Amino acid sequence: MIATFITEHCSISALCYGVKKSAKNIGSDLNITAKLSIIVDGGKSELYRLHESLIIKDYSILHNNLETSLIISYVKEVILYISQGSMSDECLILMEKTLDAMLLYVEKNCSGLINILMRAFEIKALSICGIAPAFKRCSICQTTESQNWYYIFDIATVICKNCYQNDRKYKTLYSQNITKETLDIIRQLKHSPLIKIVENIENYKHYSKDIDKDIRYITMSRLTDYIGHSIKSLAVIDSILL
Ligand SMILES: [Zn+2]
Repeated sequence: MIATFITEHCSISALCYGVKKSAKNIGSDLNITAKLSIIVDGGKSELYRLHESLIIKDYSILHNNLETSLIISYVKEVILYISQGSMSDECLILMEKTLDAMLLYVEKNCSGLINILMRAFEIKALSICGIAPAFKRCSICQTTESQNWYYIFDIATVICKNCYQNDRKYKTLYSQNITKETLDIIRQLKHSPLIKIVENIENYKHYSKDIDKDIRYITMSRLTDYIGHSIKSLAVIDSILL
């Protein structure tokens, strides 16, 4: 089944879904199996005829890997919620870029570092929704350099340690202390294409569980606020992969 299209001139890219028959009595699931290039014949009729189709990428390998198959369920769930019923090109492109990055992740055999990809995906999903937190500079004094930062949840922005300590009102707001190292990684994840993150995964060898926990706390608070509830597949990932 071909569910969605990204139109570019006359050729169309599609993410192809296959129905997976479930062994359990909980119904079936739609798996993204491939990316296709499709050429259709237009003509005068409103109906388009399939002229040619070609598999560009085969994603089936991702479903044979426990880690990536669970992440795909998560990515699908988040995209479904953030698209709010009408799948935009940005959502489809994010889905495709995430699948491509995971394909390289499996090929490079980088097991154990999938969390980086999940956090990068979340940051990019927040950007699509227009609710990405401001990480670039201190929202008070505009500095970009500080050894310690505070993320203020209510205003979804970071402020430097000096400004945090000099203004009492910030101490009354719900905040999270984050290190320079963590903020640098967040900035990298925000500005690097997903595929580049996997290509340069060696650069993240200092990525610790604590850093991941801090980033995840920020991205999830923002995402669940936007969606209005928690994400079920993340709980499944936590119970199986951790
Ligand atoms: Zn400041």
